[in-house]
Amino acid sequence: MSKTYDSIIIGAGIAGASTAHALTQKGQKVLVFDKRGIASGGSGAAGAFVSPKIGKGSPLQTLTNEAFSFAKDFYLSTCPALFHQTGVIRIPKDEADAKKFSAYEPFNENKYVNYKKEQLQELGVHAEFKSFYFPDAGVCDAKEVCEDLLSDIEVIEYEVKEITQEDGLWCVGEYSAKNLVLATGYESDLVDVRYMDIKGTWGSRGDFSSNLKLGISMHQSMSVGANIDGIIKLGATHEKEVKEVVPCKKEQALSLKEKASSLIDTSDLELEEVFCGMRSGSKDYFPLLGKVIDVPFMLKKYPAIIRGAKPEMKYIDNLFVSNGLGGRGFVFAPLMAKMLAECIVEDKEVDVRVDPDRLFLKWCRKSSELDALR
Ligand SMILES: Cc1cc2nc3c(=O)[nH]c(=O)nc-3n(C[C@H](O)[C@H](O)[C@H](O)COP(=O)(O)OP(=O)(O)OC[C@H]3O[C@@H](n4cnc5c(N)ncnc54)[C@H](O)[C@@H]3O)c2cc1C
Repeated sequence: MSKTYDSIIIGAGIAGASTAHALTQKGQKVLVFDKRGIASGGSGAAGAFVSPKIGKGSPLQTLTNEAFSFAKDFYLSTCPALFHQTGVIRIPKDEADAKKFSAYEPFNENKYVNYKKEQLQELGVHAEFKSFYFPDAGVCDAKEVCEDLLSDIEVIEYEVKEITQEDGLWCVGEYSAKNLVLATGYESDLVDVRYMDIKGTWGSRGDFSSNLKLGISMHQSMSVGANIDGIIKLGATHEKEVKEVVPCKKEQALSLKEKASSLIDTSDLELEEVFCGMRSGSKDYFPLLGKVIDVPFMLKKYPAIIRGAKPEMKYIDNLFVSNGLGGRGFVFAPLMAKMLAECIVEDKEVDVRVDPDRLFLKWCRKSSELDALR
């Protein structure tokens, strides 16, 4: 006998976990698959800072800051013990960056205070330049948050290799559901989503034991978490050249310690554990959320699409995606999950800023992957 659910979610990172939670809140029966278990991808490696984005008011900054406000309230109400509102300091990288900070000030929509060098020194932070302190920001316990969001939801450790649709239901082995959500991070080959151009960026986190009194978290070109229960977390994701998951290297965590020594006193930091993972991002850095276009159908039915035709989109029935959260999965995921749950349950349109449709026509016109059809 097949087991039937309202929605199946593939991927138990922060995107899948938040979506599962939001759908369950709306009364759905949800099943989650993950090939390596909860938060075994990028989410488990994350420093999981939840902080605003600074800049000159770009559309991405506006969306990120909406998501930040939503996320901090979400974590405070849903799993307060796992969100540490330590405040986060954004420190300029160099003098040129420090000059830009003045231009960013009018666009700091979230509560902030300017901290001078001397004030930072008192907090145990070595920084040459005036920095922004965001008191409402903080850090999550990455894996534990995903586990908490999934605590009342069925999760099966299983690698989904194929998805099929029969009689209006999505089938994964003996399980079936009306809706299917792909929250698979940088691995996205279960259907043709080439137009979303999902790419991975590799990163590492080192958890160090320390007695350093550091009550505040900070971000410069890397993240340094406050000392929480004797652990300071150092993290960064920059490596685009790593294409597949590789074993975590102790050296990477130690090089983060070396780098952090310009910001804090690292003399008593002892490496306890290394985490590493791939975070998945989109070309324009906006999340990818909503319905999935039926690419083979569109290319076959409307061949002129590769020369600029703009036919009506056809979507794959009841298939959805939540991906492309980039370096801010813990910031974006709660708001994205709310939007996706409203789309799935109430048939609401997702916000156009995150709808993957934005990338489809350009991909048809420009992608070298379609050169053979030209
Ligand atoms: C070192 C590091 C530091 C970071 N720091 C921060 C930070 O400070 N703040 C922040 O907000 N974000 C941070 N991020 C980014 C954040 O981790 C990502 O945005 C987030 O992980 C995206 O979540 P996700 O659920 O989309 O993907 P993932 O967490 O990668 O989850 C995808 C899941 O899908 C599963 N899966 C894939 N294919 C299949 C399949 N076929 N069958 C079954 N399961 C499958 C994988 O096993 C995986 O668990 C950091 C990332 C890294 C690596």
